[in-house]
Parts: sequence; structure tokens; C-alpha cells
Amino acid sequence: MSKICFKSWKQVAQFHNPMKNGELDIQTLELRQDPLTGYQSVLNEAFQGKISFAFPETDYDYLSRRMDDTREQCFMCDGKWRTSAPRYPEQLLAEGRLEKGESVLFPNLFPLAPYHAVVKVGEKHGRNLDEFSPSILFDAFSVSIEFIRRCFETDPKTTYFTINANFMPPAGSSIMHPHLQVIGSPVPSTHHRLILENSRAYHRATGSCYFTDLVETEKESANRWLGEIGQSSWFTAFSPLGANEVNGVWTRNANFLDWDEGDVEAISEGMSRMLLAYHELRFSSFNFACFSGPLGKERPEFRCLLRLINRQNMHLHYRADDFYLQKLHKDEVIIYAPEHLATLIRPKIG
Ligand SMILES: [Zn+2]
Repeated sequence: MSKICFKSWKQVAQFHNPMKNGELDIQTLELRQDPLTGYQSVLNEAFQGKISFAFPETDYDYLSRRMDDTREQCFMCDGKWRTSAPRYPEQLLAEGRLEKGESVLFPNLFPLAPYHAVVKVGEKHGRNLDEFSPSILFDAFSVSIEFIRRCFETDPKTTYFTINANFMPPAGSSIMHPHLQVIGSPVPSTHHRLILENSRAYHRATGSCYFTDLVETEKESANRWLGEIGQSSWFTAFSPLGANEVNGVWTRNANFLDWDEGDVEAISEGMSRMLLAYHELRFSSFNFACFSGPLGKERPEFRCLLRLINRQNMHLHYRADDFYLQKLHKDEVIIYAPEHLATLIRPKIG
């Protein structure tokens, strides 16, 4: 195993602070760099006691009103999807849509890739993050994986698949009803390509797999380690791509075609526990993306990777948490220090 090297730099910023009677305020910053992608993030220790200023907690009365106000119009509620949701052509899915329990997969009306499916997660319109049971998620992830298999059988040239979600308007969702999105394309997304290329370069240089090395390093140091769930390993991200990022790695599986029922159970159980922990921290909005190596190809350098981030919590007049730093510089602001975040999540996931 190669040991992963986590690079960080201490910096200071100085100014006379009117909140401290005009005294010279020397604030300590820590700049971090992700070992695989080089993406940077910055932690200001002075910010740690003032998180609610930039990242207010959820207003549950407002959230409940938004759920009530949107239920009537929701096409996923009360079986309305049976008449209003699109269907796939017969040569791809003979059934048109994939159903399991309360979950159903159908095409996105405005796809952003050759394969772009939406998965309704459960019957309930409004869910808080403590209401995503492993069984509700299992059905949704099962139809997602089944869809990916069917796509590959019909069209083996399309090999780059991810499973994703936007939950709540601050995360970019246009509907409140919980849902996943499965994307499949012959060309990977920019980030997907970056992690594939950089993990291949790491493998060439070290003869080792970056992701299994990362899991070993995180488990050994324990600072950000959250635990193992089935064959998946969970920890907080050293240099996050978004607020309060949690990562899951499937150490046996390079792509989704390798997933068996136990791996689907692991993502369902893992997501359920992480969302419960987010809820107990009064978070209410998230994005996640689960990346697979190219389907049907031997890729010893890659393992399936899940990135889960928190977005601005639901409250009236919330502001976007992505500003020029994230959108144009591709750097991130650390909300909770990842090592502190791990201490907050660990006791909540059992
Ligand atoms: Zn609904």
C-alpha cells in the first residue's frame, strides 16, 4: 500500500477588527489540497464559532409549509406519474419504466445525457433527512442499477454512469418529492474524467489503487473515519468539494456491473445513516454523486466512489452557497473542519 499524502498550508490574515475594539486581529487559515484532484479548500478557524452566519440551520416551519404548498401539483404523488411520466422505448425497457416497491424509474423529460433517468423515491412527498429508511433507498438504488445493466446490454458503447441526487431547492431541485437521477453517457463528466485519469496516473506511478490506499490511510489515521457498512467504507473528505462532505468507497467494485445485492444494501444503509446524521445536525438539503469506472472494462486503478455534500439548509431567503470561489476558482470553503465533522457524525451512525 502507498500512503496517501495530505498536503495543507497554514496562512494568516491580519486586520484591525472593529468587533475587537480596533485591535489587530490575526486569523489563522488552513489551505488544503485533495491528493487525487488537487482541488483546494480553505478553513478559517475564526469561522468555526460563527457557522450559522453563513450557513443557517433549517427552519422546519418554513420547510413544512413548502412541502404542503407543493404537494397538490406534484406529478410523483398519488400515482399521477402513471399517466404523466414519460416511458423508455421498448428496445431499451420492455416495461417502459422500472418499478420496485414505492420506487419507479422513468426518463427525464429534458435529458442532459443520452441516458438520463429520474427515480421517484417513495410515495411520501415531503421527507426530512431522518425519514430515508434503508428499505426505501434500497428499492430506488435497485432500479437504478437495473437500469444501468439494461442500458449496457442494449448499448455497450455507453460506459460512463453515475447515480446522483438534488434534494430540496437549495441543492438545485425543482421538485420537493425525493428522487434520484441516473446519468449515462459515452463521455464522462469533467469531474468523473478527472478522477478516472488521475487514479490511472497514480496506479502507473505506484502500482497501487488510489481508492483502496485512501481507505487504508483514513482507517489507520482514524481522524476522519466513520466506519464500514457492508463492503463500503465511509469517512469525511480531507479537502471537500462541498459543505460537510462525506465519502463512501466500494473497495471491491470498480464499476456498477460488479455490484451485487449486498452492495446495493451498503449504499442504502450508508446513505440512510449519513442523512440521519445530517438531520441531527439540523441539515435539510444535499447533493450526492456516486461514480463508477467505465462499465465492462478492467480498471484495477478505480473503485466506485460516492460524494455526499450538504447545501444551504431550508429557510426563507436562503442564499446560494456557491459563489465565485467555488463556481469560477473551483476552491471550497470548509464549514465544519472535516476531523470535527467526523466526531459529530460518528456517534450518530451507530
Ligand atoms: Zn410528491
